[in-house]
Amino acid sequence: MKHSCKQCGNCCVIHWKSFEATHDDVIRWRREGREDILKHLAITSDNPNDQSGTFTSNSCPFLRRNEEQNIYCCDINDTKPFNCKNYPDDGVCEYTTNLN
Ligand code: SF4
Ligand code: SF4
Repeated sequence: MKHSCKQCGNCCVIHWKSFEATHDDVIRWRREGREDILKHLAITSDNPNDQSGTFTSNSCPFLRRNEEQNIYCCDINDTKPFNCKNYPDDGVCEYTTNLN
C-alpha cells in the first residue's frame, strides 16, 4: 500500500535522532557542495568507504513550518537523507491527527 504523506512533520521530530546520514548521502552532499548540510554532521571514520555520519543537532535544522497551509516542509527535499526518503520503510507512520 502506498503511503500518503500528510506533511504533519511528526516523523521529522520523533525520528530525528535516529536518522543517520548514509555513506552515499555524505558523498552526494560533498559532490553538491552542501556545506550547509555537512556542518551538522559528525563523521568519525577515516575509511573512504564508510563516510556515514550522525547529525549533531537536537532537532532537524531543515524542517520548516508553512503557516498558511498548516503543514511542514523539508528545506532540503531534493537531496534529503536516504532515511528520510525511505520513511516509513514499513508503510506505517505516526500521522494520527488531522491538523485541519
Ligand atoms: S509522520 Fe507520516 S504523514 Fe507525517 S510527515 Fe511523517 S511520513 Fe508524512
Ligand atoms: S531532513 Fe527533511 S525529511 Fe529529514 S527530518 Fe529533516 S525536515 Fe524531515
